[in-house]
Amino acid sequence: MYDFLVIGSGLFGAVFAHEAHSAGKRVLMLERRSHVGGNVYCEEKEGIRIHKYGAHIFHTSDREVWDYVNRFVSFNNYINSPVANYRGELYNLPFNMNTFAKMWGVTTPAEAAAKIEEQRRAAGIKEPQNLEEQAISLIGTDIYTKLIKGYTEKQWGRSCTELPAFIICRLPVRYTFDNNYFNDRYQGIPVGGYNRLIHALLDGIEVRTGEDYNLPAIRERYRDAARTIVYTGAIDAYFGYALGTLAYRGLRFETERLEEENHQGVAVMNYTAREIPYTRIIEHKHFEFGTQPVTYITREYPADWHPGEEAYYPLNNAENQSLYAKYAALAKKEPHTIFGGRLAEYRYYDMDDVIRSALDCVHAVLA
Ligand code: UDP
Repeated sequence: MYDFLVIGSGLFGAVFAHEAHSAGKRVLMLERRSHVGGNVYCEEKEGIRIHKYGAHIFHTSDREVWDYVNRFVSFNNYINSPVANYRGELYNLPFNMNTFAKMWGVTTPAEAAAKIEEQRRAAGIKEPQNLEEQAISLIGTDIYTKLIKGYTEKQWGRSCTELPAFIICRLPVRYTFDNNYFNDRYQGIPVGGYNRLIHALLDGIEVRTGEDYNLPAIRERYRDAARTIVYTGAIDAYFGYALGTLAYRGLRFETERLEEENHQGVAVMNYTAREIPYTRIIEHKHFEFGTQPVTYITREYPADWHPGEEAYYPLNNAENQSLYAKYAALAKKEPHTIFGGRLAEYRYYDMDDVIRSALDCVHAVLA
C-alpha cells in the first residue's frame, strides 16, 4: 500500500511526488510513455538536446519557484528573443521598438505610439471582442496583418475573429528596444537539460513507465494500490469521455539534422505568413549555446487533434470551458483523487505556474 499513486511524470506529477517522498510518504508513479518528464522531455543527439514535444523555455517571476528549481539544476542565461520571418522580411519579437522601427521606419517611442494609435482609430475598435480586435488595438493593423494573423490562424486552426483575446495578451508590447520575449524576472534553460531536472525530482521514487492508467485493466490493477491518487492526465479520458471530448490543438514535429554549424542564428524563428504550413523552426543548439559542427532543426506544424493523439494546447473557448466545468464537478466528487496540471485542469499553463500549483497542492495535502 502506497500513500500516493501519481499518474503522469510531467512537472506537476514530478514535483508532487518529490515533495511527498521528501515528507516520508510512500509514492508510486505510473507513466504512459516509455520515458519520464512529460512534454519537457528532451532527446539527445550528438550532444544537442532536442525538445521533442515542443520548445520549452523556463521563465518566472515567482522567486520561490525559481529557488525551488535551482535546488535541482542550475540554469544558463538563455534569453528568448525569437525572430519573425514574414515572406523573407525579418522582425524582432516580442513587439518592441526594433519591430516598429523596421516596420515603419520610426525612431522614437512617441512616433511608434502615434502610428499604432492612428491604425487603431482607423479600424474603429473600442472594446476588443476577439483576438483580432485585441491585437489591432494593441499594436495596429500592419503588425497584426504581417506578424499575427497568419501565425495565429495556423496555430489555432480558426479565424482570429473567433479566438479569445487573452491568447495574444501572453505577448508583451514594449516601447523600448528590448527583444526579451518574456517580462519575467528569471529565465533560462537547465544546464544539462530538462531531463536532469526531472531525474533529480524523481530521485528515490519508484516509477513504472509504459503503464497507461486509463486502460481498464491497468486501472483495475492499481485500484487499491494507494490511499490517494494524483491524476495528471486528461480529465475527460479519466472519466472515459462520458460527457464528451475536450478539444485540443495538436502539433506535428519534423526534425532534421543539417551538416552545418549554424542554420538560422537564433533558437526560434516564427514563420508568420499563412502560406507556410509550419509556425516556427526551432534550432535546438542555440538554447544552450552549442558549438557542435552539426545542427538539428525542428519544423513545428499545427495540426487538427483527434482523441488518442498527443494533446498540446487546450482550446479554451466557451464551449470547451463549459464542458471542462462539468468534468471538474465530477472530479471534485471523485473520492481520494486529486486532479492537477495542464491536462487535468485543461489549462494553457506555463511551466512555472504548473510548479507553483503542484507545490501549493502537495503542501495543502500534507499539512
Ligand atoms: N503570436 C503571433 N505571432 C508570433 C508569435 C506569437 O501572433 O510571431 C501570438 C499568437 O496568437 C499565439 C500567441 O501569440 O497564439 C502565443 O504564442 P507563443 O508562441 O508565445 O505560444 P507558445 O506556443 O510558445 O505557448
